[in-house]
Amino acid sequence: MTHHIVVLGAGYAGLSAAKGASRKLRRGDIRITLVNAVGHFVERVRLHQLAAGQPLKELPLSGLLAGTGIELVVARVTAVDAAARTVQIDSAPYAIAYDTLVYALGSAADTAAVPGAAAHASAVATYQDAVRLRDRMSDARGSLVVAGAGLTGIEAATELAETYPALTVRLVTGGELGAGLSQRGRRYLRAALDRHGVTLREHTRVSEVAAHGLVLADGGEIPADAVVWTAGFRVPDLAREAGFAVDARGLITVDPTLRSLSHPEVFAAGDAVAAYGPDGAASRMSCQTGLPMGAYVAGSVAASLTGRAPKPLRLRYVWQNISLGRHDGLTQFTRSDDSPVAAVLTGRASARFKEAVTRGTVLALRR
Ligand SMILES: Cc1cc2nc3c(=O)[nH]c(=O)nc-3n(C[C@H](O)[C@H](O)[C@H](O)COP(=O)(O)OP(=O)(O)OC[C@H]3O[C@@H](n4cnc5c(N)ncnc54)[C@H](O)[C@@H]3O)c2cc1C
Repeated sequence: MTHHIVVLGAGYAGLSAAKGASRKLRRGDIRITLVNAVGHFVERVRLHQLAAGQPLKELPLSGLLAGTGIELVVARVTAVDAAARTVQIDSAPYAIAYDTLVYALGSAADTAAVPGAAAHASAVATYQDAVRLRDRMSDARGSLVVAGAGLTGIEAATELAETYPALTVRLVTGGELGAGLSQRGRRYLRAALDRHGVTLREHTRVSEVAAHGLVLADGGEIPADAVVWTAGFRVPDLAREAGFAVDARGLITVDPTLRSLSHPEVFAAGDAVAAYGPDGAASRMSCQTGLPMGAYVAGSVAASLTGRAPKPLRLRYVWQNISLGRHDGLTQFTRSDDSPVAAVLTGRASARFKEAVTRGTVLALRR
C-alpha cells in the first residue's frame, strides 16, 4: 500500500523537508503531498523589504517542485484530526489523509501579546502583513513606531527609515537593544540606528496599542500615526487543537529526531517546533534553524519508514545576520550555541554577505 507523507507549510522548513523526503524515498510506494496557503515560496527574511515597497522575486512553488513528483495543494489548513489522521483544508478536496505528517506551518506576529495590537498595529511577519504595511506606507509621513527591537524590529525600522526619509521612526523595546550581541555589535547597531535617524527607546513596556499610538505600562504614551508590532512571533493554535503535545507557547514538543512526543506518526520542523540547542536553550526561530531542521526531518522520516534509528539533531549556529537598510548591515558571528563572539562584519560588506546568504538559501531550496 502507498505510504502518504503530507507536509504542511512550504516555508524554509516544509519545502526542504518535502524535497529531502522525495530525494531519499524515491519509491513507488511513497507519495508526498505539500500543502501551502499560497502558490509561491515566501522569502520571509525579505518581508521588511516588501513592506518598504521593494518588489520581491516571484518564486512559484510549482517551479521549485518541478521534477520531484511532490503533489502541491494550495489551500489553507483549517484543522488536523489526529485520530482520523486527516488534514482539513479550506478548498477541494477539503480533507487529505496522511500516514506520516510533517508539521511546518511557521509562525506569525504575536499581536495577541497586548490589547489593541491586532486591531491597531501593522506587522511584517507574514506575506499578507507585509503587503498590507506596504500599501499603508505608500504615502508615508508623520510618525511610525516599531514596537519590539528583536532582529525583525531592527530590520523593519531601518528599512522603512531608509525608504521614507520624511518619516519619523522610533524603535521601542522592553529590554536593551541587541542583548544577544557582542559589545562591538551593540555599539555598531546603536550608531547605525542613529545614522538612519531611528530614535531608540529602551526599557519601555507597552501595555496597549491604541489608535493614536502606544500606551505604556508606566502610564505614559508614545503617540504615532502608525505602529508596527514586531515584539515576538507566535504559532497557530492548530497543533494544540489537534491534540499534539505542545509547550506553553503552542510549539510542538519533539524527541531529538523531531518526532512528536505524543504522536509518533507526526514530525515537526521550523518555527512550529520546540527544538533545543546544544545548551538546552530553545532554538532561535530563524531560517538558519528551519532549513537544517527541514532537511533533517526528511532523513528522520525516511529512517522511521525503513526501520533505522536516525542520529539526533544537533543544531549549530554560526552567525546572526541583521540588515540595516539596503547598504548597511551587521553580521554577528556566534559560537555553535548562538552566543556571540567578539568578531563582527559591518557596513556594506555585511549587507553583501547577507544578500549572498539569502540568495544561496533560495538556490539550495531550488536544488
Ligand atoms: C521580516 C523578517 C525578517 C527575518 N529575517 C531573518 C533572517 O535574517 N535570518 C533568519 O534566519 N531568520 C529571519 N527571519 C525568521 C524566519 O523568516 C523564520 O524563522 C522562518 O521563515 C521560519 O521558517 P518556517 O519554514 O518554520 O516557517 P515559514 O517560513 O513561515 O513557512 C511557513 C509556511 O506555512 C504556510 N502556512 C502557515 N499557516 C498555514 C495554514 N494554516 N495553511 C496552509 N499553509 C500555511 C505559510 O504560508 C508559509 O509558506 C525573519 C522573519 C521576518 C518576518
